[in-house]
Amino acid sequence: MQTQPTASHYIGGAYVEDTAGTPIDVIYPATGEVIGRVYSATPAVIDHALTSARAAQAEWAAMTGTERGRILRRAADILRERNHDLSVLETYDTGKPYQETSVVDATSGADALEYFGGMAATLTGEHIPLGEDWVYTRREPLGVCVGIGAWNYPTQIACWKSAPALACGNTMVFKPSETTPLCALKVAEILHEAGAPAGVYNVVQGLGDVGAALVSDPRVDKVSLTGSVPTGRKVYAAAAAEMKHVTMELGGKSPLIIFDDADLENAVSGAILGNFYSSGQVCSNGTRVFVQSGIKEAFLARLTERLGAAVIGDPQDPETSFGPMVSERQMEIVQGYIAKGQDEGARLVTGGERLERDGFFLEPTVFADVTDDMTIAREEIFGPVMAVLDFEDEADVMARANDTEFGLAAGVFTSDLTRAHRVAAGFEAGTCFINSYNDAPVEAPFGGVKASGVGRENSKAAIEHYSQVKSVYVRMGDLEAPF
Ligand code: NDP
Repeated sequence: MQTQPTASHYIGGAYVEDTAGTPIDVIYPATGEVIGRVYSATPAVIDHALTSARAAQAEWAAMTGTERGRILRRAADILRERNHDLSVLETYDTGKPYQETSVVDATSGADALEYFGGMAATLTGEHIPLGEDWVYTRREPLGVCVGIGAWNYPTQIACWKSAPALACGNTMVFKPSETTPLCALKVAEILHEAGAPAGVYNVVQGLGDVGAALVSDPRVDKVSLTGSVPTGRKVYAAAAAEMKHVTMELGGKSPLIIFDDADLENAVSGAILGNFYSSGQVCSNGTRVFVQSGIKEAFLARLTERLGAAVIGDPQDPETSFGPMVSERQMEIVQGYIAKGQDEGARLVTGGERLERDGFFLEPTVFADVTDDMTIAREEIFGPVMAVLDFEDEADVMARANDTEFGLAAGVFTSDLTRAHRVAAGFEAGTCFINSYNDAPVEAPFGGVKASGVGRENSKAAIEHYSQVKSVYVRMGDLEAPF
């Protein structure tokens, strides 16, 4: 497959190159080989992208919702038709196994384009009667939106941000993570092939400084970031300086509580999905696994057995179920946390080593006897490292589960119906799961509370974050004034 893109950026409906920017090598995480090169956007490229997005916005917003929606739904169809090639590319970009990318990435991007495409024509205001006078509201776009992505789900993040933004009549400049620059360019190509006018969706590559330049530009009305909490704080502050709208999808250290009465096999499945999918590089992962004492040994035994069945290897092989970390740097960060876990006295149940092969492969790793104050129980690791903590009673575990600055997700496994809902209600988290983990259907709001974020992606809730309401008072009779 051709992994070198036609050019680094996609602006005004065409590929654009400027080799004066800092070169960024694209590295295939499974081998460490360079598979492409892009150039960070220069100030001229950033200016070109913002000018194009601004120029296209009025025309795009003036189209009917039905017309805009048709283009988004056409793009969804193209994504699905090309799912195989897009999944292979996503695997090159991220190292995630094709077994995952073929069912999660372009497909969930297509779901978002289809969902918001279908909704575009329904985005209306309301009529508010006031005696003989009345007010009507208009749901209007914000203008130019900047999207900034993390490296774990490059296609999905590009679509989750662009679908609601474009449905509402905004245009977008999207900056992928420098680690995974390839897939957003394909989304841009497909949107334009589907009929989006030039300038509606633009992609610029770059390091954090390009993101920072976009966020602070006065031509930008809204910023949507998927990234870490430290980056979120910087981007939120820069956006606040000019009173821009924001959506912040940030990190987490989510609790997953497994009660004695849980179905063991399902609980182990939930823990695997919430810790080892995408080699653990998922923001909503339930990485603090609280296991009640009566089920603990059975849980650890079955978990270890099931992890032994993971097929680790070439991520392009459809049989492979566990791939490499996205980069050498991320692998080293995770190795640092594994060392800390051991230093601070957690019990290594399985894994912990780098694999002796090319690429950035780490074993799926489980620590038991983890206590609340250990570093591996407090900080987001963003790798295949599960921390198992013990608990006895519900009130105690709820207090501990919520004792974190984060609040992205949380899960509970139990067969007690009332307890399941009581626990879900008690979680300080934006996205919760009962007897499941990490489902993210486009129909459901997704996002965090506390330091994990601001705003929601997906669902009808996303519309609130990509549009604004104007109210228009209409007087039907004469207007009285005091003098
Ligand atoms: P980072 O926060 O390092 O980077 C996110 C993006 O922001 C990158 O494109 C980055 O560019 C850019 N950036 C960095 N500094 C600035 C700045 N000052 N101004 C504007 N943009 C900037 O996150 P990672 O890419 O390492 O992704 C992992 C993190 O993302 C984890 O914390 C994870 O939990 C979170 N995440 C959250 C999700 C959610 O929906 N809540 C989903 C997926 C991930 P560059 O690549 O050049 O550094």
